Amino acid sequence: MITFCTLFSGSSGNAAYLETDAGAILIDCGMSCKQILDSLIDAKLEPSRLRAVVITHEHSDHIRGVGPMARKLGLTVCATEGTWAGMEHTVGTIPAHQRMRIDPGESFFLAGMEVASFAIPHDANEPVGYRFFLPRASIAVATDLGHFAPGVQAAVTGADLVLLESNHDPDKLRQNPHYPATLKNRILGKKGHLSNESGAQAAVQLAATGTRHLLLGHLSSENNDPDLAYRTSHAALTNAGAVVGRDVTLQVAGRYQTGYLYRMA
Ligand SMILES: [Zn+2]
Ligand SMILES: [Zn+2]
Repeated sequence: MITFCTLFSGSSGNAAYLETDAGAILIDCGMSCKQILDSLIDAKLEPSRLRAVVITHEHSDHIRGVGPMARKLGLTVCATEGTWAGMEHTVGTIPAHQRMRIDPGESFFLAGMEVASFAIPHDANEPVGYRFFLPRASIAVATDLGHFAPGVQAAVTGADLVLLESNHDPDKLRQNPHYPATLKNRILGKKGHLSNESGAQAAVQLAATGTRHLLLGHLSSENNDPDLAYRTSHAALTNAGAVVGRDVTLQVAGRYQTGYLYRMA
């Protein structure tokens, strides 16, 4: 049995959980160790099943709890060389045998599955997304994307389930009086974050090429809301002739709570 869910998703912190018969992994660890353990227990998931955490990039909303989680549970931590360099000063001591270095584009095995990393366009040292190949399905995580680059599209196309960024509404962002212009430009840039509209276009492409479950994530707390993200993708899918609920499921990952639990035989 395969179980996948997000524990936290959004600019405030990210972590997702993927379990196979051989063990479980976390994808990012962007909340405190206690918050992550509490959320696993709330979702009736077993922290002792965890074997590893794969990191997408060194921004704090993805690594906040990595050091304490790795030490407490003896987890292998997997990240690119650039990500290791970027998070070295925040994760504390992680023994050499728990450190795994990968190159973007490299595939490796963890918890009984093949994991393929792929480069993503984002303003971090050496950021990656991941696709997990399970016996009868595959799951991809593609957030923190300035744009849905051809390399990302190629890496995630055909995945049964995609956690896809739907970060912001560009108008809300532009009108936000609390964000300086430099930050707005960063988010809107080619190495920033995917807007609702860009996420929706990616969702249409994915649904047309075999994806059956779309989970929108990494929503901005100030420049988005879950209803708006959902409606934008729903409208684009409907316009493209896909029936949500029949051809593809569409969910929005919760910011602070475990969302929908995907179970696959
Ligand atoms: Zn980031
Ligand atoms: Zn992020």
